[in-house]
Amino acid sequence: MSKRDYYQVLGVARNAAEDAIRKAYRRLAMKYHPDRNPDDAEAEERFKEAKEAYEVLTDAQKRAAYDQFGHAGLDAARGAGAGPGGAEAFGDIFGDVFGDIFGGGGGGGRRRGGRSNVYRGADLRYELALDLEQAVFGTTTEIDFQTTADCQECTGSGAAKGHPPVKCESCNGAGQVRVSQGFFSVQQTCPRCRGRGTVIEKPCASCAGQGRVRTPKRLSVKVPAGVDTGDRIRLAGEGEAGRNGGPPGDLYVEIAVREHPIFERDGAHLSCEVPVSFATAALGGSVDVPTLEGHAIIKVPAETQSGRVFRLRGKGVRPVRGGATGDLFCRVVIETPVNLSDEQKALLRKFEAAMAADTRSHNPRERSWLEGVRQFFSRMGS
Ligand SMILES: [Zn+2]
Ligand SMILES: [Zn+2]
Repeated sequence: MSKRDYYQVLGVARNAAEDAIRKAYRRLAMKYHPDRNPDDAEAEERFKEAKEAYEVLTDAQKRAAYDQFGHAGLDAARGAGAGPGGAEAFGDIFGDVFGDIFGGGGGGGRRRGGRSNVYRGADLRYELALDLEQAVFGTTTEIDFQTTADCQECTGSGAAKGHPPVKCESCNGAGQVRVSQGFFSVQQTCPRCRGRGTVIEKPCASCAGQGRVRTPKRLSVKVPAGVDTGDRIRLAGEGEAGRNGGPPGDLYVEIAVREHPIFERDGAHLSCEVPVSFATAALGGSVDVPTLEGHAIIKVPAETQSGRVFRLRGKGVRPVRGGATGDLFCRVVIETPVNLSDEQKALLRKFEAAMAADTRSHNPRERSWLEGVRQFFSRMGS
């Protein structure tokens, strides 16, 4: 099949200005670009054809040769050593045509970053479980974890002693190579030296040439008073070592406070349940309650009902970020006596009988409950 006329391919007049040629090419390139027409051989053919026409017609010398001698004129020029052209220039044209559409510089970032091999070390995360008391009052604790550090043997170079890294021949030390992918070429990190520009001929035995080793680390962590689950303590520079002189990452110690057998925590406040005997609740009395700092006494007035909450101001947690110290909320739970002797049971029956004459006045909750039930059924019935 003979080659089509370049002007025909782009659909422009023979005297078209470069601007019109560029515009026509953009339109075709957008339409037939392989990214938009995957596995479409004809589109790919059209794309190549348009690109070739564009390259020739926007090059004054080539266009003149083509205008005078047609395709034969260009073949002669190629034979004269102009090179195969095409692929090499693609990257630039791609940037020119698509740069403003796809957000600019496709692949450029890689190139920019690729030249530098200096990386900051990765951050590490460590979950530290604490008892409530440790979280509230602060503590100092040792943590053990695995990190990655420069190999001591080769000081991070990865090369055996006496065999320093040599210049990579694939990229001539640049760390970057041009690779042809089909009909265009891209610059990418040299696969042989992975962008370092140097290769190791004899790897260090203790790190297998990696320059880095997994190593256990032990640190003492000072936990300030008042921390809570989810709080993070940042230990700057205690993460993984950087590469090629890059700074180390940070270690984040994340706090997880264990459940406490007595206290529940809600921010700065604590709460707990306090069992109270039926007799104490009815007659009133003193009840011993636990706090994080020791015992405290609360005075339970007579006729205290189950569920009543007593607030002990300032017996909660002093928050790590400042602010008011929280309170301790003690919720009374009236305990039903168990394991009663026959005598105790008899006393209770006698007690119940004594109440029977006026049960409603002795049981305020039952009274209001019965009233609620009555209203409920009367609404249902109406
Ligand atoms: Zn290389
Ligand atoms: Zn090593």
